[in-house]
Amino acid sequence: TSSPITVTLTGAGGQIGYALLFRIAAGELLGPNVTVRLKLLEIPAGIAGAEGAALELQDGAFPLLDSVNVTDSAAAAFDGTNVALLVGSRPRGPGMERADLLAANGAIFGPQGAAINEHAASDIRVVVVGNPANTNALIAQAHAPDVPRERFTALTRLDHNRALGQLSAKLGIPVRDMDGVTIWGNHSATQYPDVSHATAGGTPVRDLVDDAWLANEFIPRVANRGAEIIEVRGSSSVGSAASATVDHVFDWVNGQRGRWTSVALPSDGSYGVPEGLVSSFPAESVDGKWRIVQGLELNAFSTSRIAASVAELATEREQVQGLGLL
Ligand code: NDP
Repeated sequence: TSSPITVTLTGAGGQIGYALLFRIAAGELLGPNVTVRLKLLEIPAGIAGAEGAALELQDGAFPLLDSVNVTDSAAAAFDGTNVALLVGSRPRGPGMERADLLAANGAIFGPQGAAINEHAASDIRVVVVGNPANTNALIAQAHAPDVPRERFTALTRLDHNRALGQLSAKLGIPVRDMDGVTIWGNHSATQYPDVSHATAGGTPVRDLVDDAWLANEFIPRVANRGAEIIEVRGSSSVGSAASATVDHVFDWVNGQRGRWTSVALPSDGSYGVPEGLVSSFPAESVDGKWRIVQGLELNAFSTSRIAASVAELATEREQVQGLGLL
């Protein structure tokens, strides 16, 4: 085993945090030979939940878990952090306008970005799960001028995994035989799950399904899967969100396991996405860095769907700029 890696989890007293903690402690986030120091950040109202989880982690006697600290101080939580999982965010309350939601989250992610800038390890990697995830990541990144901007990412791996699951169910082909699926744009209902370069068992998916199924069933089902889970389960997705977060970080740190994946990261202008917007792209992990898959040809349908989701991201950026949050 190597020297311990420091992992900071925010919102550690919440549902996704609870599911994540046991996967991390079991060594699934970074690998089976990597020891972990856990730092759990919560707001005062969530501290008891995080402390309870910490007691259960102790009771798990995980060989790879070095220590667990619970704090409500961002400076302490991000001190020496190598991997930051930003899960805690302000959910939309009854009667809350979008601007209120953005302002509330700006007050969370701005200071967290600044604390990461000040205190985190030089190899810091950040993934934002708390919604609106892409714009929260943009706010945090803007407050961390000394950190290379591509270290700030937002989670679209859950959408990606949902797309794989839907294709697999439709075609009767296991997810391990799928490749080339992409989620573009925002982690919201405007996202574009794209199978135009995908293969299933080596056959182009476009030869196996028709356009009507893609446009009327597949795309809306993936984009609205969160609402479907709430309807069936009575509460939002938790285990799958935690699992996708683990996949995202594992691949980022350890390299690609075969196929490409989907990651929201600050745009370098690829595919016409305005520079700096945190937008989802097809990406491969190479030498510990995300590399956007280049050179994909986009048809008219794909181009317009990507543009619509990117326009939503641009509007969110304007709104947070207007609120003085960037
Ligand atoms: P969850 O753990 O269920 O969710 C946390 C966040 O993840 C929410 O913003 C949620 O967004 C988001 N999310 C992203 N993708 C998904 C998905 N596919 N399915 C479900 N959620 C998704 O929320 P809880 O309320 O249980 O826990 C949040 C915790 O965060 C609380 O304990 C709270 O105290 C804490 N918190 C901590 C902060 C801090 O550390 N500074 C700041 C603010 C809160 P959505 O709401 O859109 O579903």
